[in-house]
Amino acid sequence: MIDTTLINPSPVLALTMDLISRPSVTPADEGCQQLMADRLKAQGFAIESMFFEDTLNLWARRGQGKPLFCFAGHTDVVPTGPLDQWHSDPFQPQIRDGLLYGRGAADMKGSLAAMIIATEQFLAATPEPAFDIAYLITSDEEGPFINGTMRVIEVLEARQEKIRWCLVGEPSSTQQVGDVIKNGRRGSLTGYLKVNGIQGHVAYPHLVDNPIHRAAPALAQLSQQVWDHGNAYFPATSFQISNIHAGTGATNVVPGQLEVTFNFRYSTEVTAQALQQQVESIVQHHQLQYELTWVLNGLPFLTDSGALVAAVVDAVEQRQGFTPSLETTGGTSDGRFIAPTGAQVLELGPCNGSIHKINEHVRVSDLESLVDLYRMMLENLHRSQS
Ligand SMILES: [Zn+2]
Repeated sequence: MIDTTLINPSPVLALTMDLISRPSVTPADEGCQQLMADRLKAQGFAIESMFFEDTLNLWARRGQGKPLFCFAGHTDVVPTGPLDQWHSDPFQPQIRDGLLYGRGAADMKGSLAAMIIATEQFLAATPEPAFDIAYLITSDEEGPFINGTMRVIEVLEARQEKIRWCLVGEPSSTQQVGDVIKNGRRGSLTGYLKVNGIQGHVAYPHLVDNPIHRAAPALAQLSQQVWDHGNAYFPATSFQISNIHAGTGATNVVPGQLEVTFNFRYSTEVTAQALQQQVESIVQHHQLQYELTWVLNGLPFLTDSGALVAAVVDAVEQRQGFTPSLETTGGTSDGRFIAPTGAQVLELGPCNGSIHKINEHVRVSDLESLVDLYRMMLENLHRSQS
């Protein structure tokens, strides 16, 4: 049967398919940003490509001097996994039963296409908006995230170019487009604890110092500690031990060292510093000989109210007829690099059920909804600032 959507695809469908057909496995971009830049240039955007190490980034801005609204996202995709398990080539977009299949369809080339079409529609009706518009697009969000959004933000901060409102196109929705908006993310802090003892024969306990016995009560206390009670947007801070190792493999040897790795996912009710101090004091209370090192993976952020929240929530209510739920669940995103500059940051994108999986897809009708939601958000923001 001939699928008529393919003979005459809508603008957002055509652009999404064009982006999917470029195999931009992280950190490759494969011309995706150029495709976007060409469309934005035609709308009066000034284009800046920023290349750091192996990563191409796009900064595009329309207007100079008004408060700045920014669309943020990434052109890179995760690897395909076993090709023989895909029902069609992941880089040859195909529509089956109203679903568009291809790597990046949901995470997040559909969002990128929807942003472009929404911007074109908005500017056609509102050529002089009450704010400037920018795009911050990277090709390393799925990789080590070192040469992407973080580096672009450093450049912007150095020249005091500030983003006031930012919408990240990450796939936030679960059942219907817009049912969930991410308005923050938890912080992530990892600790590496080494407990030192004295190795020896189990038959001579007076000659050994068992680091397992020493660490056990301390770990028990850490695992039962209440760090905070969370707040309206964040669940209580969680402490999880992810790795623990001690022992030589022999049954008659007390090991000399124990190593533990643990991670906090923490709310805005505590700070990384406060958590570190509490862990130190618990460990010291148990009189351990220890070394403790930390890696701060991401700061928590929260956008609980303001013009952007109102513009996005109203757009979902107007277009979809339901009120979205504001949540901070899930892993980290590039929003963590943008929010610390003082920007209001929200994430809204398509349904995330198939992201990073074999046979990733997006509902074709959801792409059209997303265009409307992004355009209506711009219209609402324009009205609130005029
Ligand atoms: Zn993504």
